[in-house]
Amino acid sequence: MKAIVIGGGIGGICAALALKRFGIETAVYEAVKQIKPVGAAISIWPNGVKCLNYLGMKEPLRALGGPMHYMAYNEYQQGQTLTRFSMDPLIESVGERPYPVARAELQAMLLDNYGRDAVQFGKRVTAVEQSASGVTAFFDDGSEAHGDLLIAADGTHSVVRQHVLGYPTERRYAGYVNWNGLVEIDESIAPANQWTTFVGEGKRVSLMPVSGNRFYFFFDVPLPPGLAEDRSTLRADLQRYFRGWAPQVQQLIASINPETTNRIEIHDIEPFMPLVKGRVALLGDAAHSTTPDIGQGGCAAMEDAVVLATVLQTHSLGIEDALLRYQDKRAVRVKDLVLKARKRCDVTHGKEMAVTEQWYKELEQETGERILAGMCETILGGPLQ
Ligand code: FAD
Repeated sequence: MKAIVIGGGIGGICAALALKRFGIETAVYEAVKQIKPVGAAISIWPNGVKCLNYLGMKEPLRALGGPMHYMAYNEYQQGQTLTRFSMDPLIESVGERPYPVARAELQAMLLDNYGRDAVQFGKRVTAVEQSASGVTAFFDDGSEAHGDLLIAADGTHSVVRQHVLGYPTERRYAGYVNWNGLVEIDESIAPANQWTTFVGEGKRVSLMPVSGNRFYFFFDVPLPPGLAEDRSTLRADLQRYFRGWAPQVQQLIASINPETTNRIEIHDIEPFMPLVKGRVALLGDAAHSTTPDIGQGGCAAMEDAVVLATVLQTHSLGIEDALLRYQDKRAVRVKDLVLKARKRCDVTHGKEMAVTEQWYKELEQETGERILAGMCETILGGPLQ
């Protein structure tokens, strides 16, 4: 059996690794010549970590992960702690740690494990066709590739999605802009072993440790889409949006490098069905595009990969049957994750300010129990217990 995988991001390479693990021949086609991930870092929650462990990357992942032992929320004006708690109860409940990692390093780990030479770069798929016996992908350089099945892991702007759905999808602006990057750890800003988030005015400023003595930082600000902001104004923009915020936040803004800081307008896509058509399956952001508010988009792609490879390995009624089983196992899970993230997004970013203010009040009473229980539920919804 030969699988064509479209897209060499987190989803595509995890899928290729998972299929290869079960002896399925794979060929990965990636549009760009060199992958430049959209964000600086990513938090891999235990459901995603278990998938990477399963795919044989337990040790290399640990080397990339930051020491996120505590979690804290601080109020925005003085930087006073609203709540702070250990992540240990979560880790004990679900049986694995979370690992915040730099994206470029995650991408390199995935490619090294799969084999860089097995990925064909500069191959942008423009169309796919399928028949009763196979699938063909057509690329913008005029070439084509044939296989028994096709995994479309071509991201949120997926070209293959329309082949599966039969209609185009629209991305929905979630109402806020996210700036993110990496900066050397400075413990006068936040502790090195803690995920720290400053909240107020429907905005947030967050720092997570990744390996190499670096913080993954991000700033979220509710804003209209399409503002003419770029690197040249980045620091001044952040200073303006966070005027009056705590000294730690001002210090962070002063220390970031605008040249390596990303500015992203956050979107998602209304959950849809089907996720498969005949011999073609959507996977990762192509199948479910979420806001990053519960940090699960990439983890869900890892879950998709494991489930897809498992159904292909364990069922014998043919490819189309196996892909339908993949869809059955994933549809509810990924819809839940997208909608959960959207709900969290609205509370965090002041969609209804009274609700957000109420959340700030609740944080003062939070012992960690409620927050960790919510995370635990999300994590345990994954395929590997
Ligand atoms: P992508 O990473 O987008 O990869 C798609 C690949 O396909 C790309 O390499 C692209 O070049 C290629 N491609 C596109 N079109 C074509 C084509 N026509 N032909 C061939 N190749 C093509 N997730 C988490 O789990 N935890 C987090 O903490 C987290 N934080 C996030 C923070 C931000 C700000 C954002 C924006 C997202 C975050 N996510 C997080 C989500 C996560 O980044 C995505 O869910 C994940 O990258 C999806 O992987 P993917 O492989 O499906 O898509």
